Amino acid sequence: MKYVLVTGGVVSGLGKGVTASSIGVVLKACGLRVTSIKIDPYLNTDAGTMSPFEHGEVFVLDDGGEVDLDLGNYERFLDVTLTKENNITTGKIYQSVLEKERRGDYLGKTVQVVPHITDAIKDWIESVALIPVDGKEGPADVCVIELGGTVGDIESMPFIEALRQLSFSVGQDNFCLIHVSLIPVLGVVGEQKTKPTQHSVRELRALGLTPHLLACRSAQPLLDNTKEKLSQFCHVPAANILNIHDVPNIWHIPLLLRNQNAHHSILKQLDLLSIATAPDLEAWTRRAETFDNLTDSVRIAMVGKYVGLTDSYLSVVKALLHACIACSLKPSIDWIAASDLEDDSAQSTPEAHAAAWKTLRNAECIIVPGGFGDRGVNGMILAAKYARENNVPYLGICLGMQISVIEYARSVLGLARANSAEFDEHTPDPVIIFMPECSRTHMGSTMRLGSRRTLFQTPDCITSKLYCNPEYVDERHRHRYEVNPDVIGVLEEAGLKFVGKDETGKRMEVLELPGHPYYVGVQCHPEFKSRPGKPSAPFLGLILAAKGQLEAYLSKHQNGS
Ligand code: GLN
Repeated sequence: MKYVLVTGGVVSGLGKGVTASSIGVVLKACGLRVTSIKIDPYLNTDAGTMSPFEHGEVFVLDDGGEVDLDLGNYERFLDVTLTKENNITTGKIYQSVLEKERRGDYLGKTVQVVPHITDAIKDWIESVALIPVDGKEGPADVCVIELGGTVGDIESMPFIEALRQLSFSVGQDNFCLIHVSLIPVLGVVGEQKTKPTQHSVRELRALGLTPHLLACRSAQPLLDNTKEKLSQFCHVPAANILNIHDVPNIWHIPLLLRNQNAHHSILKQLDLLSIATAPDLEAWTRRAETFDNLTDSVRIAMVGKYVGLTDSYLSVVKALLHACIACSLKPSIDWIAASDLEDDSAQSTPEAHAAAWKTLRNAECIIVPGGFGDRGVNGMILAAKYARENNVPYLGICLGMQISVIEYARSVLGLARANSAEFDEHTPDPVIIFMPECSRTHMGSTMRLGSRRTLFQTPDCITSKLYCNPEYVDERHRHRYEVNPDVIGVLEEAGLKFVGKDETGKRMEVLELPGHPYYVGVQCHPEFKSRPGKPSAPFLGLILAAKGQLEAYLSKHQNGS
C-alpha cells in the first residue's frame, strides 16, 4: 500500500479536505485505484452527536456510519463508497484501546499513549486502507489520509507520532507527505508572506515528519520569488511546491493540480511512475468549464433550521448543484430560516417575516431538508402548505417529508393539532411516531441509519421513473421517527399517495401528490449518494419541475434512453 498523507498548517479552514480529495482525483485519473481515510482528532466517537451549527453536516454512509462531512467530499470526488472505519477519531481509538485493557489484553503492562494508542492508530490505518471502496476486488493502490486540524494541535499529537512511525515502517517509496499551508498577503504592497508556512513546516519537522510537497493556498497565483523562498526555507524542491489559488469553482482544483504536474511529483515519490498513465481529466474539465459558463439559473428556496452555516446542508447543496448542472442551470439558493415564516415572527420581527415570505414567493421550487428538534417546524409546515396550494415544486427530505404529512393532516384532514411525537408528545393525532427500534436513552448511533431499500408500490409514480427503476431503490437513512402506519389509509383516501415503502410494507418511504407538478417527500437522504455527473433522482425531478421540463423529460426517458 502506498500512502499520501495530507496535513494542514497555519490556520484551519484551508480547504484541506478538497485538496486531499482533488489529489485523489488526479491519481485516479492516472489509472490508479484510490481509497481514503479521514482522521478527526476530536474525542467524539463519531460526528453523529455533533451540532450541524458548529460542525457542519453529519454525513451518513451506506453502513450507517455518521461521519465528518469531508467523507462526503471523498465519496463525491472519487465516486467511492466508504465505510465508517474510514473515519478515525480519537474517541474510536481510545475506545478500542480501553476495551482491550478491560479485556486484559495488556495484562501486566502500563497502558500508554506511546506505544498503545499509536500502535492502535497504525493498525487501524493499515487495515482500513485494504478495504476496497470502488466496487472492485482487492485493495486500492493508494490511500490518501487526511489529518484533520492543524499541525501542532495538542490533540493531534498521537496521530502525528503514529504517522511518523508509519512513514518509517512502510519505507521511503510508499509514503508521500503533502502539507497544505496558507500564503497570506499583507500590507499595501501586497507582499506574499511565506513565514507562517516556514514555521509550520518547521513544526512538522520537529515532530519527525518531512513534507515532500507543499500545497500553498493563496488568493492570487504565487509569484516566482515566493516559490523560491518557500523552496529554500522549507527544503522542498520548487517543482513540488503546488499553488492552490482561488478558483471559480472547486472542480478546477484537480485541474490546477494536474497543470502543475502534482501527479508527477507524487508518483515519483511513491515510485509509481512506471504503472501510472497520463491523467485523463476530460470529464472534470468539461464540468468545471460548463459551470463557469452557465447563464440561466433556478431560484431554490431552502427552508431549514440551520441556515446560518451553509455547511450544515452541504450534501443537499451539492446534490442541487449536480441536478442543476444536468439541466444546464446555475443554482441560486435562497436560505430561509423557517422560524421567520411563522406567524409569531410577524409580530416580533416583522421585517424578517416579510423578507422570508417574499423570498419564498419568489422561488421556483422549495426544499425542506432534514433536521431535528422543533425549532422552525411551524414555518416549514407553512412552506409545505404554500408549495402544495400554489403548485410550486416541493421536495421534503426526511424531516421535510414528515412536515408534508403533518401539513396534509392539518389542512386536508382537518386535524388541527396533528403533529409529530417528536414535537408534541401529547398530540391527539400523532401522524409521525417514534420508531420502536430506536433507543430513548442513548443518542449516539441509535437511529435507523444507513442504506435501506425502498420498494416502489407502483411503477407509475414520478419517483420510480426518475430513478429509472420500477421496483426499488437503495438510499441512506438517518431518522428516529416515521409516518404512523395507522393514518396511511385516511391520508391516501384524501389524496396523498405513499408510493414507496420499506420491505415490510409498514414503513413509508416516499410520498407523492398526484395532480401537483412535483410534490415529493422522501424519508431517506438521497443527497448523500448524489455525484457530479450522476445527479440524485429526486433532486433532478425538483429542478426539472421548477422549469416545467419534468413531463418532457419523463416521456423521453421512459424507454430507458
Ligand atoms: N427528526 C426526524 C426524525 O428523527 C427527521 C430526521 C432527519 O431529518 N434526518 O425522524
